[in-house]
Amino acid sequence: METPDSKRNNVTSKRLTIFLQTFGCQMNKLDSAIVESSLRDAGYQFVDNAKDADVVLMNTCSVRDHAEQRVMSHLGNLKHIKESRPDLVVAVIGCMAQRLGSELFKQSAVDIVCGPAQIAEIPRLITEALQEKKKAVAVTEKIRQVSPDAQLLERFEIEYSGDDTDIPGQAYVRAMHGCNKFCSYCVVPYVRGPETSRPPEAIIEQTKRLAQNGIKQITLLGQRINAYEYKAGDKTYCLADLLSMISENNGIEWIKFVTSYPSQKYFKEIMLAMANLPKVCRYLHIPAQSGSDQILKAMNRGYTSAEYLELLDTARQIVPDIAIAGDFIVGFPGETDDYFAQTVDLVKKARYKNSFIFKYSPRPGTVADKRLEDNIPQEIKERRNHELLKVQEEISRALAAEFTGQTVKVLVEGPSKKARLTAVSPQVYPGGFDPQHKVGGLQLIGRTAGDWIAVFNGTETLAGQFTNVKITKTTPLTLFGELV
Ligand code: SAM
Ligand code: SF4
Repeated sequence: METPDSKRNNVTSKRLTIFLQTFGCQMNKLDSAIVESSLRDAGYQFVDNAKDADVVLMNTCSVRDHAEQRVMSHLGNLKHIKESRPDLVVAVIGCMAQRLGSELFKQSAVDIVCGPAQIAEIPRLITEALQEKKKAVAVTEKIRQVSPDAQLLERFEIEYSGDDTDIPGQAYVRAMHGCNKFCSYCVVPYVRGPETSRPPEAIIEQTKRLAQNGIKQITLLGQRINAYEYKAGDKTYCLADLLSMISENNGIEWIKFVTSYPSQKYFKEIMLAMANLPKVCRYLHIPAQSGSDQILKAMNRGYTSAEYLELLDTARQIVPDIAIAGDFIVGFPGETDDYFAQTVDLVKKARYKNSFIFKYSPRPGTVADKRLEDNIPQEIKERRNHELLKVQEEISRALAAEFTGQTVKVLVEGPSKKARLTAVSPQVYPGGFDPQHKVGGLQLIGRTAGDWIAVFNGTETLAGQFTNVKITKTTPLTLFGELV
């Protein structure tokens, strides 16, 4: 059997290949980047297609049923591939692995099941599966206790995070693991374990290394990032302290953080840090979930819509040009037309830059699933989803239009999807982009500090760099312009 190490000893041998597919949130993208970096280090090569791979890794999400169903359907397809290639190794990692454990072996394609706290074991589990052809499961047995693998995970994270980034110039940095909030609809506390904050020194060290590798923007991740709290001796570090410490690191130029939970604790300090530290982006993602106090109570969110709106007022008083984004769940059990109208009202008052809107999906094991009937019909969930999106779209349209004529600083992500499909006028400007006439070249996308997407023409070499774009036209979600 070939191993990745055989590559190191014998350059002519074929390197084993891995196809890694990631579902779900930024936390999963970060886990995937860490796993990918560790496996590249072990000698594996990554490919874009399961058909060309010796190993298929699926990093899964359990937040909504739909995400799980997609994975199940992929596992069904992999079963067919495995019929003709029995040596193929299939690993399910992430939240579904933790939630379902060895139940996943009912899907005959699956060889490895590995939870989010065990990702440090993946290189070993893959080697063993390739060599010994036996099925293995590594998950946390008592998920609400700090995982016995926590220290190993921390070392793994420090060693491998930041080497593989999806978007040039940007990286995620985990500030917190898990969640203690137990919103009644949410599976996260049951699959990601208790809330813990990582030591500030580890985070700072990581950001320094990222800056040395050319990273310009870091996004701190936590399910309730504003609850970051780390005690060392008689000092307690909060997110505001962390932002200030990272700001002193010269290489990193933009710092973002997600997701904020609506609560008073440390809120003013964090907003003041945003106002006073130029590197901290003026962007706040703070999900409300509903505008109805009855539904918020049933969701166990711990605030009223008035308290939520007060927080937004505080944020705007301290940081007047802050861009705010929200999340909502429509069709939560018991959501009447009237309760939904209160959500519409809150969206209008909040004037979000954008909102992520989800249809309620009952999750096994959660309090809402155990105690409340999923009694809002699918078509009503869909109608409310559509209606809320339309309300949000009008607000986004108006906020976006304010950028017309302004010049914004963006961090360039790379060619837009359209540019990847169609080369723009290389015939007219054989050298690509014509800077004098600002035409030709590729259509690029970038993001502002407030997380607005900007689209403009330029050269691919700008990916991962800051540039200025003059906005000429806008749509609800996009600012169009030209390089200045
Ligand atoms: N920790 C973050 C917070 O508290 O806002 C977000 C975590 S969750 C992974 C991301 C979003 O998924 C939530 O804000 C919520 O809107 C949505 N979500 C979570 N559970 C859901 C469910 N059972 N059905 C529909 N949407 C859900
Ligand atoms: Fe889920 Fe609530 Fe925790 Fe967010 S704060 S991860 S919604 S339990």
